[in-house]
Amino acid sequence: MTQYVYRFGGGVSEGQAGDRNLLGGKGANLAEMSAIGLPVPPGFTICTEMCALYYREGERFPDGLTDEVATGIAHIEKVTGKKFGDPADPLLVSVRSGARVSMPGMMDTVLNLGLNDETVQGLAAASEDPRFAWDSYRRFIQMYSDVVLGLDHDAFEEALEIAKEDKGVHLDTDLEAEDWERLTARYKALVQEGLGRPFPEDPHDQLWGAIGAVFGSWNGDRAKTYRRLHHIPHDWGTAVNVQAMVFGNRGDSSATGVAFTRDPSTGERAYYGEYLINAQGEDVVAGIRTPQYLTRAAREKAGARSPSMEEALPEVYGQLAGVFETLERHYRDMQDIEFTVERGTLWMLQTRTGKRTAKAALKIAVDMAQEGLISEEEAVLRIDPLQLDQLLHPTLDPKAERDVIAKGLPASPGAACGKAVFDADSAVQRAGAGEDVILVRVETSPEDIHGMHAARGILTARGGMTSHAAVVARGMGRPCVSGAGAISIDYRNRRMRVGGREVAEGEVITLDGTTGEVMFGEVPTVQPELVGDFGTLMVWADSGRRLRVRTNAETPKDCRTALEFGAEGIGLCRTEHMFFDPDRITNVRQMILAQNETDRRAALDKLLPAQRGDFEEIFRIMEGLPVTIRLLDPPLHEFLPHAEEEFAEVARVSGTDVEMLRRRAAELAEANPMLGHRGCRLGITYPEIYEMQARAIFEAAVAVARDGATPPLPEVMVPLVATRAELAIIRALIERVAATVFEEQGLEVDYLVGTMIELPRAALAAADIAQEARFFSFGTNDLTQTALGVSRDDAGRFLGTYVEQGIFARDPFVSIDVEGVGELIAIAVERGRRSRPDLKLGICGEHGGDPASIGFCEQVGLDYVSASPYRVPIARLAAAQAALRKAKG
Ligand code: ADP
Ligand code: MG
Ligand code: MG
Repeated sequence: MTQYVYRFGGGVSEGQAGDRNLLGGKGANLAEMSAIGLPVPPGFTICTEMCALYYREGERFPDGLTDEVATGIAHIEKVTGKKFGDPADPLLVSVRSGARVSMPGMMDTVLNLGLNDETVQGLAAASEDPRFAWDSYRRFIQMYSDVVLGLDHDAFEEALEIAKEDKGVHLDTDLEAEDWERLTARYKALVQEGLGRPFPEDPHDQLWGAIGAVFGSWNGDRAKTYRRLHHIPHDWGTAVNVQAMVFGNRGDSSATGVAFTRDPSTGERAYYGEYLINAQGEDVVAGIRTPQYLTRAAREKAGARSPSMEEALPEVYGQLAGVFETLERHYRDMQDIEFTVERGTLWMLQTRTGKRTAKAALKIAVDMAQEGLISEEEAVLRIDPLQLDQLLHPTLDPKAERDVIAKGLPASPGAACGKAVFDADSAVQRAGAGEDVILVRVETSPEDIHGMHAARGILTARGGMTSHAAVVARGMGRPCVSGAGAISIDYRNRRMRVGGREVAEGEVITLDGTTGEVMFGEVPTVQPELVGDFGTLMVWADSGRRLRVRTNAETPKDCRTALEFGAEGIGLCRTEHMFFDPDRITNVRQMILAQNETDRRAALDKLLPAQRGDFEEIFRIMEGLPVTIRLLDPPLHEFLPHAEEEFAEVARVSGTDVEMLRRRAAELAEANPMLGHRGCRLGITYPEIYEMQARAIFEAAVAVARDGATPPLPEVMVPLVATRAELAIIRALIERVAATVFEEQGLEVDYLVGTMIELPRAALAAADIAQEARFFSFGTNDLTQTALGVSRDDAGRFLGTYVEQGIFARDPFVSIDVEGVGELIAIAVERGRRSRPDLKLGICGEHGGDPASIGFCEQVGLDYVSASPYRVPIARLAAAQAALRKAKG
């Protein structure tokens, strides 16, 4: 018989401690902590497979589960010496969801389950603390009503506020046993009103209700959205953890807290966390009371007065520090921990690998390798290449003027600038329209996730370093300033006020998530550098990397940025951008509109020096590195004038009349330009265009070589080739021009002629085409369009639905469609290399900067990938990881 329930705690840790697929992340780690002897309150985990089964059976619990749960409860009873539902001294439990990966969209935890009108008396008597008993009971009803019964929690909050007002107090802690008892009665009345039936009194009904609610939450909207955003399969299911309660709300020697074994923001080797004396569960993150610091050093640094845990509870703190060390040695990574102290006794309630900023990730990986905890290779494999993006973008210029309007906590580092918006939906709308936005909220909750995702940065008025906003922002890599208490937000009128000033929706603000500053207007930024831990890790990465990394660049600025980031050549230098230059576009148009070859050549002659100058500059910057230059690719129609005065200007320069020009423009219009007169088809029909470009390339190369600089290696790339014959014709043209230039100049340079592979036919005919090509570069943007028959510019209307329904696992324009496009690449690689063993192979589509696609490039054995300048370090790291993973098998 399959086992669905796994027990932990009290010296037991059943089955596969650490098996997160089966037990979910939370359950697996509770079992694992228990197995290594840490103090974990006893409990059991209903495995993730049960969730799938529950849905398969039409949302019913399968036979046998009842008995297994009863066995689980018996285990907890045995370890704690208490009985579930015992009116004298009841066992209370928490019911916690826990999927394989942490999912903030899931069901909230229910604490203190097992209380009712009878057992609350027992709890009061056994603890000799009626206030604690009634406080626990009202918390339970509140949570259960919200999470399991689905009642609106506002009514409960309101009842609590009224209770405090009636008594004339401000803090929850000022309420006494009788107040809580009265409030409990009110809560139960609210349940009766809202539900039409009473609050469930039977602890077993309560338990099954909560278990069902955990499974139900797996298919809730929040969870589904989260899964879609994070590519989590819908069939994984969630586990349910039922665990004996321990109480942090039993007086001044009790507490609850959250901690990280290292600083998740900077990565520094310092314990980091917050705690609250005499509090339960979520109080720390909920922002009801201001949490206190864990360590004395952190408290002093912040200038806070309330004692740190190190000072207030030195003995337990010492124990906790010991647990941190044990956990790091065991998991060999930074841990994010939840704990509770019940009357001086420490209990561990959760551990997981801590989310961290890119900066912290680098520091922790490098430090741990240097501490000997992990190897250099592991350090390289630990960093999410995409996360590096956070460090590769400009930061606020330290010398720039800052109009600081508020200061909060530096919750997630980096600079963000955008228009203020005050709700998640507006953030999504404006971001969708291409605007940069900053989401400003009093505090965030899981309902705001989509808005946080759409925003450049997040600002909250309330909440600490471990608040929802802070944790989620760090995970998403969004800069965040939390708890900027001076800000008052007026949701209704969509504006915020701070220190006598006002920011309305749509006004630009800047956040510095590294210092916690909030500034009015836009603050200028500076370029990042690859130094320190980043530099160290990249050295380790490069030593494990096989793929070369080039860049897609056509301006001197991009070339220099890419070189600084470690680019080893240019994989794609487009030439059309050079044509759009305002000084040249008129000549380009004149060339296009020319009626005959002579006129066209005249216009091209005017373009030649400019184009030669571009190439010369790029060759000099790239100093001997390979530079792949793509001959003109887009349909000529793209360059044509639109405005009246533009037509007039071309007519003036070329000495023709506007009417004639219009006719020619109409002739060039195409129904489907993407599949029209473009790429090498231009070179075949107007050879003089490619002749001019080839001449510019070779004259530039010779000029640079003559200066005594390392001669460049131009790789002349022909776009949109479908047949060998096309390439043969254009190759002959290029070679002819090269020979002429070398003869004229009395100097030769090396060069290669090759082609893009971006049509399915070219991939299939690769053996033939390789006879004419020294290199292939996979143009995966067009190859994806032509292989899938999907226009990238029009895909927006349905691609989202396709990804949502799982028809495409990922957006094929972001990550290579391995079975289709990938197969074409694999075929072309194999056939191309067979007919020309030294064929150079690379990729220049946008996929060249996507880590998953880079993994594929390693698998099929390409020689290099080419990525946009800011993506070069990401590509270097991804390439290293791909090689290391391949070597591991
Ligand atoms: P989340 O995943 O949202 O953190 P958890 O299941 O971890 O939800 O629980 C929410 C809060 O309740 C946490 O602070 C946790 O430490 C606390 N908690 C959960 N179970 C217990 C328990 N058995 N005893 C005391 N506190 C608990
Ligand atoms: Mg938790
Ligand atoms: Mg193309």
